Amino acid sequence: MITIEQADRLKKLPPYLFAELDRKKAEARSRGVDVIDLGVGDPDLPTPDNIINKLAEAAREPRYHRYPTYTGMNEFRKAVSRWYKRRAGVELEPIPEIVSLIGSKEGIAHIPLAFINPGDVVLVPSPAYPVYAIATMFAGGIPYEMPLLKENSFLPDLGLIPSDVLGKAKMMFLNYPNNPTAAPATQEFFRTVVDFAEKHNIMICHDFAYSEMTFDSYVPPSFLETPGAMDVGIEFHSLSKTYNMTGWRIGWAAGSAKIIDGLGRIKSNIDSGIFEAIQVAGIEALEGDQQCLADMRDIYTERRDILVGGLRKLGINVEPPKATFYVWFEVPSGYGSASFAALLLEKSGIVATPGNGFGSPGEGYVRMALTVSKERLAEAVDRIAKAGF
Ligand SMILES: *Cc1c(COP(=O)(O)O)cnc(C)c1O
Repeated sequence: MITIEQADRLKKLPPYLFAELDRKKAEARSRGVDVIDLGVGDPDLPTPDNIINKLAEAAREPRYHRYPTYTGMNEFRKAVSRWYKRRAGVELEPIPEIVSLIGSKEGIAHIPLAFINPGDVVLVPSPAYPVYAIATMFAGGIPYEMPLLKENSFLPDLGLIPSDVLGKAKMMFLNYPNNPTAAPATQEFFRTVVDFAEKHNIMICHDFAYSEMTFDSYVPPSFLETPGAMDVGIEFHSLSKTYNMTGWRIGWAAGSAKIIDGLGRIKSNIDSGIFEAIQVAGIEALEGDQQCLADMRDIYTERRDILVGGLRKLGINVEPPKATFYVWFEVPSGYGSASFAALLLEKSGIVATPGNGFGSPGEGYVRMALTVSKERLAEAVDRIAKAGF
């Protein structure tokens, strides 16, 4: 017998706040409750056919069966560069300003290993995608939470960060359009961020996963289109949400060559890149027929209007999101995030994600994902009406 003990980095992980809800969801299902799950941020729609066909074709090519290049096929990186030019008017050199990733989560999780020494501070938004803070801790860094508050349009107030924290801060994560609040960022905000980064010598890592998941013709700005951004930061992106490809694991990071180089060096010592047939299919996603984008937006718009319109009729104060597939709203008075989510499940068989699971400033909110059909969303609204919160 040996003693098998997990490393301190695992012991220091924050408690998994959704464990209780996961248990209740499984328990409701086992009782035969027809659960409407609005908890998961994973598209229910299939990957478009042209992309699947391209993968099927490429998978038969023996030249793609060997180890890929660590930092991505040149053709894929060129397609990303053309995407930036078309989408944001940004000029990027495929080498050395772009690296492909096994999903953007992979790059987000690895980037602190390239730049953060023990004791360095990383500024992370809260509420947020949990990977920013956890990847920081895995590298020995200290996450400093920047609260995203409604009164500040869910943008961090950079002026509130104490100077001793700024002295140790080396990196900042941002994510707009934002998960979980659905908030957009403005070009002026990004301008402030670039000035702040230059003044305090802080690298910016912007997560742009929801750039194309938008409503009402809204076009979110890329961080990289801000003058000076290319010198201070990078942007993470992914095909996951845009083309319903969460299972395929393909994304990229683009921007400052020095930052991309650090990330590439970490990656080349940890993984061996993305299956090249998937990269070929990724090129098809970016450069093939884009009708799928318009179709996706129509479907989510219909769903959003059913859910937001329905909740508003019930007197719940919900803002229609401009982007992402999340609806983020304050729970009715008298409830907290966890108690409202528990009651929704118990009385209506609906799973929503309690906002405090993304960080304490999310307390008092819940997040619902538009990842079920419009019929199921209408049913969810009916059930909430019947339960009479
Ligand atoms: C879904 C999501 C991603 C995408 O992750 P992939 O690893 O590319 O699938 C990244 N950031 C946020 C905030 C997300 O919600």
